[in-house]
Amino acid sequence: MSSETVKLTARFKLKEAPEGLYDLFKTYHEIVNYLITYAYENNITSFYRLKEETYYSLREKYPELPSHYLYTACQMATSIYKSYRKRRRRGKARGKPVFKKEVIMLDDHLFKLELKRGVVRLSTPRGRISLGFYPTKYHEKFKDWRVGQAWLVKTPKGVFLNVVFSREVEIKEPKDFLGVDLNENNVTLSLPNGEFVQIITHEREIRTGYFVKRKKIQKKIKAGKRRRKLLRKYGERERNRITDLYHKLANKIIEIAEKYGGIALENLKNIREHVRYSRELNGRLHRWSFRKLQSIIEYKAKLRGIKVIFVDPAQTSSLCPICGERLSPKGHRVLKCGNCGFEADRDVIGSWNIRLKALKMWGAPFPPKALQ
Ligand SMILES: [Zn+2]
Repeated sequence: MSSETVKLTARFKLKEAPEGLYDLFKTYHEIVNYLITYAYENNITSFYRLKEETYYSLREKYPELPSHYLYTACQMATSIYKSYRKRRRRGKARGKPVFKKEVIMLDDHLFKLELKRGVVRLSTPRGRISLGFYPTKYHEKFKDWRVGQAWLVKTPKGVFLNVVFSREVEIKEPKDFLGVDLNENNVTLSLPNGEFVQIITHEREIRTGYFVKRKKIQKKIKAGKRRRKLLRKYGERERNRITDLYHKLANKIIEIAEKYGGIALENLKNIREHVRYSRELNGRLHRWSFRKLQSIIEYKAKLRGIKVIFVDPAQTSSLCPICGERLSPKGHRVLKCGNCGFEADRDVIGSWNIRLKALKMWGAPFPPKALQ
């Protein structure tokens, strides 16, 4: 048994936003932008330094504002400035960094969530106010969780509160590992009994469908507010469909893995080199996609006490899982080993090697020959 932390973000839609809340959004936005400009002009990437050099003047200018808003604004400004610097180094940012979103970051001094009553109590320049939110079924599962940071987000659809919840979970000692290979259109599982399960996800069809739809909109409707709105609408629909698909997939995988107590996934930090994308999809989307599916699998597994480990993806789809020799392509999807004659579908090989790597990492008594 070992203990791990699970973190999840839940979204609450506020029933109404009083006038005072909009003022708070405005003030906070002003402050964050002031801080970003200050950080930019003085090249400050340290939260403490930024806070120290600006705190008293801001305090004077906004005497009514609870001081923790200044702390969180400094946190946001430093992280925005840092990511701006990173982008600028890669030649992807010009001009001066600006904060455009309507977001307020909250720490535990600024809000108190009362899940049961469906109310969040918020510190504001006018004192504590209570804001009701629409409860959903999935909020119930957080009732024993610890509440961490939160963000108030103003959108055209209303004001939302995003809250990070965390919880300690007990992870059981795994008996074996299920190797999970994620691909653009299928998920392939390698089972300890030597069987393989391939789930066709149809993700590519869904994405291609929305891709075609977006192209049509761009062709027919000229650039402007209406086009942006339509594109946003379809973008949102696509994301919802994909997220829904990922939850179902993750549930299936967990169901199979429960028996063994372990799941092995690829560590996708270098996914760009690793995954074979179809041409119409860009890499950023893909990285988002695979990581998102992984994170759903990971937290669902942890909540069931299943151990999740991440293995190095190098050569998982190019070495023979039987003898360890390099494989060569035979036709479209099949790979063949010139040494021992083994041949199989490339995704089957991928998931098998992921499982073998996990066993090796976990210190299985007889590390498979291929990976010694
Ligand atoms: Zn071989």
